[in-house]
Amino acid sequence: MISFELSEEQKALRDVARDFAKNEIIPKAAEYDKNATFPIDILKKAFEVGFLNQAVPESYGGGGLSNLDAVILNEELAYGCIGFSTSLMVNDLALSPILIAGNNAQKEKFFKMFTKEYTTGSFCLTEPNAGSDVAGLQTKAEKKGDYYILNGTKTFITNGTYAKLYTVFATLDPTQRHKALCCFAVEKCDGITVSKKEDKMGQRCSDTVQIVFNNVKVPQENLIGKEGEGWLIAMKTLDKSRPLVSAGSIGLARRAMECARDYAKERVAFGKVIAEYEAIQFMLANMAKGVEAARLLAWKAAWLLDQKLPSTHISSMAKCFGTDHAMQTTIDAVQIYGGYGYMKDYPVEKLMRDAKLLQIYEGTNQIQRLVIARELLKANFY
Ligand SMILES: Cc1cc2nc3c(=O)[nH]c(=O)nc-3n(C[C@H](O)[C@H](O)[C@H](O)COP(=O)(O)OP(=O)(O)OC[C@H]3O[C@@H](n4cnc5c(N)ncnc54)[C@H](O)[C@@H]3O)c2cc1C
Repeated sequence: MISFELSEEQKALRDVARDFAKNEIIPKAAEYDKNATFPIDILKKAFEVGFLNQAVPESYGGGGLSNLDAVILNEELAYGCIGFSTSLMVNDLALSPILIAGNNAQKEKFFKMFTKEYTTGSFCLTEPNAGSDVAGLQTKAEKKGDYYILNGTKTFITNGTYAKLYTVFATLDPTQRHKALCCFAVEKCDGITVSKKEDKMGQRCSDTVQIVFNNVKVPQENLIGKEGEGWLIAMKTLDKSRPLVSAGSIGLARRAMECARDYAKERVAFGKVIAEYEAIQFMLANMAKGVEAARLLAWKAAWLLDQKLPSTHISSMAKCFGTDHAMQTTIDAVQIYGGYGYMKDYPVEKLMRDAKLLQIYEGTNQIQRLVIARELLKANFY
């Protein structure tokens, strides 16, 4: 039986998150965007409310949320500011490899590090010359006795300045590509330096930096999974995180749609409010139907993950469809505001800048289409 009804707990989670976005995030979002201020004060409040470490099991002090719960929560937080929800979501992204492949000792140590007090984490996959081509990464892991020595550079790392734990993907042998990838939990230590802070178009309150790992000594017990399992761990992590990116894009699109609708009901041109013109109504209708469709995809992807069913292609569809829709919605919202939409005095200018990143990170939308096509060519989905 199919039900689209949320449980009472899920409705309560959604309502608390909606209030949090309204009272804690929205009042500061424009200023934090302007000054590129990392929202550590709001993140600490979110930690107190229990919005961080969503996927960490309750037995380790985490939220123990299902994937569907996390999607519901992230839509609401992203409605407030997607830069904020990205900062929050990346904490879970950093912990996901440990959830997926970590042993009990690693879970005990690293989950508790995050659940005892507010702690920031980073997920370090991308390199200056290896973004979409993950298997081409060059950061080297060399085994020396009971340690691995890491050397390399990771780029566009969210939360990198503030992280106390870095989940780092490195290779034992770059010529072996995906077969030699390993995943490590790396605690902040000497040898890890921030070499560049990025000045971004959008999502400006999120922290994005380049990080150099120079002879960083990582104890062998910090290897997540086994040697050579890094590729699989990274892919499973991204399958899990893409519905959350989709949820973020739905929250952002919903915000742009509501702003555009409210503006269209007030702005008068040629003696009528512009909401009465069909050209405006068609843009609003496209926004609304896309939000609904994107949400169904995100919920389905999350549900599949919760049922431990194959979710790769639906996760990619949710990410690709939701983020493309958010981009188009914000472009149309700016159009509905006319010249005012282009000005920083109004909210939709920020939403349009913020939306662009959604089509790029966590696998570009070209890569999502490749994943969907590969799965479709391999087997019939239906
Ligand atoms: C603000 C920001 C935050 C980020 N945060 C993180 C983070 O926390 N951790 C992390 O590890 N990474 C992070 N990233 C990196 C992000 O995931 C990569 O930027 C993304 O995967 C694309 O890699 P790239 O930038 O190297 O582009 P490239 O891989 O060089 O791609 C360039 C273009 O070519 C296209 N392309 C590449 N290969 C193909 C192909 N086979 N077929 C068709 N088209 C192709 C791409 O779609 C894109 O349009 C972040 C990026 C940004 C901008």
